[in-house]
Amino acid sequence: MPSIFSKIIAREIPADIVYEDDDCLAFRDISPKAPVHILVIPKREIVSLADLSADDEAVMGRCVVVASKVAAEEGLSGGYRLVVNCGDDGGQEVPHVHFHLLGGRKMTWPPG
Ligand code: 5GP
Repeated sequence: MPSIFSKIIAREIPADIVYEDDDCLAFRDISPKAPVHILVIPKREIVSLADLSADDEAVMGRCVVVASKVAAEEGLSGGYRLVVNCGDDGGQEVPHVHFHLLGGRKMTWPPG
């Protein structure tokens, strides 16, 4: 089932895109929870971490590498957080798997 992120991939709705390749897209979160809040997604429609198969290994690894590259470009030399929410209990709202890249402030632990 296509989500709002599929529309961003298809350029049907606007987003502040900071990185794109054949497999991944990174764009700024519309409601940032930190000075830097970027979502890194596979272009392939995967609902959540719970839906991953072996076929997704390469693209998910690619997303992590993209997040690292984008973090460096954003100047997050002091560190950052990379988070994936999975399912209702994990706080996932958009049913297209995504990494939250959060930085630019000190993070706290544990998350709420
Ligand atoms: P989740 O709660 O699913 O882990 O995170 C979904 C994230 O997507 C939220 O941080 C939310 O602000 C962001 N988001 C939802 N709709 C849009 C949108 O249309 N554009 C952008 N750029 N971010 C969105």
